[in-house]
Amino acid sequence: MRKENTQGLHQFLSKPLNILITNHVNPDGDAMGSAFAMQMLLAKKGHKATVIVPNAYPHFLKWLPSNSEAVVYENDKTLAETQIADAELIVVLDYNALHRSGPMQTALESYTGDFLMIDHHQQPDDFAKWMISDTSKCSTAQMVYEFAQQFDLLSEMDVAIAENIYTGIVTDTGSFRFSSTTAATHTITAHLLELGVKPDSVYNNIFDANSVSRFKLLGSMLESMRVFQSKGSVILFLSEEDQVKHNFRKGDSEGFVNYGLSIEGITFAVFIREEKGFCKISLRSKGDLDVNQISRQNFNGGGHKNAAGGLVEKPLVDVIKIAESVIGVL
Ligand code: 5GP
Ligand code: MN
Repeated sequence: MRKENTQGLHQFLSKPLNILITNHVNPDGDAMGSAFAMQMLLAKKGHKATVIVPNAYPHFLKWLPSNSEAVVYENDKTLAETQIADAELIVVLDYNALHRSGPMQTALESYTGDFLMIDHHQQPDDFAKWMISDTSKCSTAQMVYEFAQQFDLLSEMDVAIAENIYTGIVTDTGSFRFSSTTAATHTITAHLLELGVKPDSVYNNIFDANSVSRFKLLGSMLESMRVFQSKGSVILFLSEEDQVKHNFRKGDSEGFVNYGLSIEGITFAVFIREEKGFCKISLRSKGDLDVNQISRQNFNGGGHKNAAGGLVEKPLVDVIKIAESVIGVL
């Protein structure tokens, strides 16, 4: 962020404001951890900070500490729209284009106040008065920590805020294994542990919360996967039928795409989940292959160089064919 811009924001935040904190559709650990951390940090400075999420978030993130429950736009449109209209600042976390807020897009587009964006995705849209956008950061949660540092809020950080930031970092770095993990990430994490975060308890809450049906769902996905060894690629998919059979719950397929990359020699994984009338796609790569570009060109999506997502309004068989053709030209 430009210096004069930061000063403007410092001044803007110097009086108590009614602030709304938002994140992207299908919020993940980074989106939720960042949002609740930001809520608690701003509240410590006397602001009224409310979190609004576009739709429900996974059950394994429900333990995250917060000052007040997140308002789910999809379930509580009237309340959410009043809050949007009344906000004196809207914070945009872990997304950089208003369409990524899904059902909330129109309401946010008609908001006439100012936006503060904190995000680490590529190619941000230009709608925020204050924009902290850095694709080199492993997570938005790390950027929220750095925001606290820059805005003299670090002394306000307690274990609850630290747990939220830790969760964002852990989930977006694949437990510190992606190339986006830096020395700064570990330095920040060290401070979070000093503040009292217990890694075993966070891991237990997030990763050891599997249901038996989720594991069986994983089994059926692995059973049907298609491996293109000479292309270093794999296609993983779940049909609607697979999901019904294993009582699919929101978030059950979180992280499934990473299983593809854990196969020796595989550097590109496509995961496709069928829903009524469309398929949700997750792409992951290792090294130079830019899945953000692949997603933009083939799957109406985007994201980062090594992790992206998209959505195609076609049945599973057709989306598998698109993935096969992408792999064919690698
Ligand atoms: P995931 O595969 O975990 O859903 O998403 C991977 C990354 O790509 C995340 O950082 C996410 O924000 C981004 N992403 C996922 N789906 C979409 C999409 O439909 N459009 C865009 N622009 N980004 C997406
Ligand atoms: Mn993120």
